[in-house]
Amino acid sequence: MNRIWNFYAGPATLPLPALERAKAEIPDWENTGMSVMETSHRSKEYDAVHYGAMELMAELMGLDDDHQVLFLQGGASTQFAMIPMNFIPPGGSADYVDTGTWSTKAIKEAKIIANGRVAATSEPDGFTRIPRRDEYDLDPSAAYVHITSNNTIKGTQFHEFPDVGDTPLVADMSSDILWRPFDANRFSLIYAGAQKNIGPSGVTIVILRKSWLEQANENVPTMLKYAIHSSKDSLFNTPPTFAIYMVRNVLEWVKEQGGLDGMERRNRTKGDLLYGVMADHPNFYSCPVEPASRSYMNVVWRLPSEELEAKFVAEALATGMCGLKGHRSVGGCRASIYNAMPKEGVEFLADFMRRFAAANR
Ligand code: PMP
Repeated sequence: MNRIWNFYAGPATLPLPALERAKAEIPDWENTGMSVMETSHRSKEYDAVHYGAMELMAELMGLDDDHQVLFLQGGASTQFAMIPMNFIPPGGSADYVDTGTWSTKAIKEAKIIANGRVAATSEPDGFTRIPRRDEYDLDPSAAYVHITSNNTIKGTQFHEFPDVGDTPLVADMSSDILWRPFDANRFSLIYAGAQKNIGPSGVTIVILRKSWLEQANENVPTMLKYAIHSSKDSLFNTPPTFAIYMVRNVLEWVKEQGGLDGMERRNRTKGDLLYGVMADHPNFYSCPVEPASRSYMNVVWRLPSEELEAKFVAEALATGMCGLKGHRSVGGCRASIYNAMPKEGVEFLADFMRRFAAANR
């Protein structure tokens, strides 16, 4: 087997044991004579996977009884619209912290449906930092405050979640969910496309405070209504069964690695290593992100010229590393080092960065 060190931003590398398990179970899964993707979503065998994945998610995140895990479709992008449709009352508004790209898209969708208000933004700084809490201009009557915990493209991350008082807090955690322990019960809704930290694309994880549904709008199309998915445990229609099965495999792996404490240790070591290489080569590698806002999931950096950046990416690929080109909207380089990326992969990249700097000064 020849696994490449995969630094793609998503879909992204998955834990090898989760893949190996699927490989072994595809022809004949748990003596059913078929794979999980061929069985009915109403079968008792599938039930065990579906509820097993939900329970593991709740256990890893320490969810209380008022919080429920949902498996939806349409990606995080559909959540951008579903949240305002369900939770901004007629004539009301919601507050958004704009940290660029994804939160900007979430605001655009909210504005189609109701009033999506920008309560804070780091746009004047090119979104190279997360706005401080004292910069927020909150509307006390807002239906919720929305943040994007990690900007996958700009390489910025919230390291502390804002206190917004009694206003429900909502977060897009697509690119950093489960990266470390945190108090998920403070949030009224958390959502994440699975394809970065939790599994393959095709399933979106939603953590919902059930009691918030009492304030939800009634006049919403059925498939876009949280109340329906909540009351049916994400079995209102056919869920993405294979993707959920893979999520279950990944969550079991997370638990075996020491849960979210284990993930945090692993992720801090990896991120510190890459930021350390940049600090050691200040005239060669530069990180555009303010130190306090640097992401431990998506590490971004520039080289002295675009030519050198292209050379870096090409030589890295030839050495066995893919996905290091920065997003087309920002250029530069980016290493996505989600939970499943082993420390060895990041050490391999750090060594390469040192050698590349020495050879190209
Ligand atoms: N939010 C964030 C933070 C993301 O990184 C992405 C995808 N890269 C999205 C939302 C959009 O997710 P999806 O493709 O699942 O709609």
